[in-house]
Amino acid sequence: MTDMPRPPRPALDEWHLTVVEAFDVAPRLRRVVFTADNLDQLDYRPGQALILRMPLPGGDTGRRDYTIRWLDRQAKRLAIDFVLHGATPAPSWARAVQAGDTLLAHGPRGRSVVAPDADWHLFCVDETGLPAMLHMLETMPAGAIVHALIETASAQDEAPIETAAMLACQWLARDGLAAGPNGLVLERLQARALPDGRGQAYLMGETSNVRAWRHHLVQSGMPKTAIASEGYWRPGRIGGHDHVDD
Ligand SMILES: Cc1cc2nc3c(=O)[nH]c(=O)nc-3n(C[C@H](O)[C@H](O)[C@H](O)COP(=O)(O)OP(=O)(O)OC[C@H]3O[C@@H](n4cnc5c(N)ncnc54)[C@H](O)[C@@H]3O)c2cc1C
Repeated sequence: MTDMPRPPRPALDEWHLTVVEAFDVAPRLRRVVFTADNLDQLDYRPGQALILRMPLPGGDTGRRDYTIRWLDRQAKRLAIDFVLHGATPAPSWARAVQAGDTLLAHGPRGRSVVAPDADWHLFCVDETGLPAMLHMLETMPAGAIVHALIETASAQDEAPIETAAMLACQWLARDGLAAGPNGLVLERLQARALPDGRGQAYLMGETSNVRAWRHHLVQSGMPKTAIASEGYWRPGRIGGHDHVDD
């Protein structure tokens, strides 16, 4: 029997964004606020991202995924937080950007969104997953039980967290260690038992770390279906993302 051809993916909506302002929200995190005439029509769930057509040296553009940090539909404003990790296209653009600059975006897309029925929630992120985590936490109801392990470059990168949820959160600073595969979050995960009840995990960060966190949770008895895990970046990978579902 031959496989049926997959139906084509529905086309993502297109957004012609114009920069309103850009400023640092932490030493290595720059917020860019955009506007567009039709932003009041952007329908998304916190945790979802846009694909940005980022200018590359030489005049071409490359696709880069960035999470919607917040959207104000009435004001037609949208913010994205860029980790300033190096002199690569996206952070270079975010550093140099001026009001009036434009950027084409497509989306939203992404499967890491809040599971409303879970008894408890667990976030494991590095700084690239922090914008998604912060936005998801802002929308969680009072009394939701949330645990979070957050890896950043240094303690200066710790961000204020606004949430009605009951949050137990640990910040883990690399303190000079290069970003990338490491055991910082994994060690903390291994040192604790999972709470009783039906949990939901959201794992977002460097791909091999995300995979190690996921494997640990599966070995600890969490169903794979209760773990949303996405590799947001990986040493040597240009743009794109890794589905981590093994
Ligand atoms: C769904 C999704 C949502 C995301 N949301 C955000 C977000 O809100 N904010 C955010 O800052 N990032 C986010 N990311 C990660 C971001 O898309 C990648 O970090 C992207 O590669 C950055 O593009 P670049 O132009 O800086 O580097 P690229 O040109 O893609 O890569 C060049 C080099 O830089 C390395 N690199 C890329 N990112 C990092 C990093 N963070 N630290 C160290 N080295 C790195 C690459 O491995 C490669 O070697 C998200 C990714 C996904 C998949």
